[in-house]
Amino acid sequence: MRRSLCEKGLRAKERLQSFLYNGSRSFAVPASSSPESPPIIPPFDYEPRPYNGMSADEIFQKRKSFLGPSLFHYYQKPLNIVEGKMQYLFDDSGRRYLDAFAGIVTVSCGHCHPDIVNAIVEQTKLLQHTTTIYLHHAIVEFAEALASKMPGNLKVVYFVNSGTEANELAMMMARLYSGNLSMIALRNAYHGGSAGTIGLTALNTWKYPLPQGEIHHVVNPDPYRGVFGSDAALYAKELQDHIDYGTPGKIAGFIAETIQGVGGAVELAPGYLKLVYDIVRKAGGVCIADEVQSGFGRTGSHYWGFETQGVIPDIVTMAKGIGNGLPLGAVVTTPEIAQVMAQKIQFNTFGGNPVCSAGGLAVLKVLDKEKRQIHCADVGSHLIERLRSLQKNHEIIGDVRGQGLMVGIELVTDREKKTPAKVETGVLFEKLKDLGVLVGKGGLHGNVFRIKPPMCFTKADADFLVDALDYAISGM
Ligand code: PMP
Repeated sequence: MRRSLCEKGLRAKERLQSFLYNGSRSFAVPASSSPESPPIIPPFDYEPRPYNGMSADEIFQKRKSFLGPSLFHYYQKPLNIVEGKMQYLFDDSGRRYLDAFAGIVTVSCGHCHPDIVNAIVEQTKLLQHTTTIYLHHAIVEFAEALASKMPGNLKVVYFVNSGTEANELAMMMARLYSGNLSMIALRNAYHGGSAGTIGLTALNTWKYPLPQGEIHHVVNPDPYRGVFGSDAALYAKELQDHIDYGTPGKIAGFIAETIQGVGGAVELAPGYLKLVYDIVRKAGGVCIADEVQSGFGRTGSHYWGFETQGVIPDIVTMAKGIGNGLPLGAVVTTPEIAQVMAQKIQFNTFGGNPVCSAGGLAVLKVLDKEKRQIHCADVGSHLIERLRSLQKNHEIIGDVRGQGLMVGIELVTDREKKTPAKVETGVLFEKLKDLGVLVGKGGLHGNVFRIKPPMCFTKADADFLVDALDYAISGM
């Protein structure tokens, strides 16, 4: 049976709601909606196709047989997601879920956004691949459009296929340009899982016991858990000490996410990057901003996460949201730094291929046309406000943080001691899914809900999410 009776009933209710609701206004689920009844997903006029493919059980079995054992999945009974439209996902029974995690912060414009699908399909029909040994207009159009979004002299683009590759290249550039080896990264960071970037990543759950390279991890300027609270100057001094005592005194570079993603939507203490960029440059290093998750307007107030800290990096890395799901990454730097790569051939077979370039350009256009940055600011502040008021009712919510549509909810069993509520987070995670809300999990202890939806997420979606969380916690 394609769709359960319960889902059919829910959809009838949704239709009634959409009939009552004027689509030009935001759909107001009452803020005080009683947690006695489960909240209803906002209406959405879209019918998924019938699914007659392989069952979830069969896929799961084959996955175990033919894919690597290091893969992990969400939920005790993993979801078989077969279709997506904008901020919603559909499982094999046709049930609709609110996607508040966007394929791990990747589907920036919305699932199967028509403009992006169209750009990809049209380019694929004409020419899929040649590499950069020949000229093609798509790669230069995309590079020019991307460079126009960058401040300062960040004008030269290298295209790659993922965030890991972007950070590999950035680290290589930093070392070649500076002539130094030591890289500095923050504890609780995630910058990739390849042989080189695994050294930058600083969460033991993601690190294999292999040589980690000449990389130093300094104390994380985490306002909630960090040893110095929000005092950026003390964290910056710690970094200076680390350079003085733990390196030859000269370094290759410093890399940081502006809001740590995998680490659990952790913001950096205000003013930290400004202080640290000065120190790093004095020590001969370059400053790298990893915008893999925080870029493209997601933070709401700015297009790039680093702008929220008032700095201009020397190298910016990006991936995920840049392609709305296409395998695409980029490194943007100054002509001067880019020049160091010219001493040898730097080549990437798929980097900047016509299809990814056409899709990437379409992403930039959609984000502008649909004014997604300001939308993230508007919906994000509504979401954070509602979550903060929910925090007042539920002791388990230790911290609500983030900017725009990059939000973290940290769950603790003791607010004073900030004891990670690991088990409870797992229980609530399942309950949210049962209510129709898919969120992400993060942090070293897996006790942070990560809310980073496609940027077309609405206030009605935010209300549904908060009401679902309220209902789930109330029923614990
Ligand atoms: N940097 C950050 C901040 C990330 O979140 C990730 C992926 N989670 C990466 C780099 C690596 O990206 P990819 O998985 O595309 O290699």
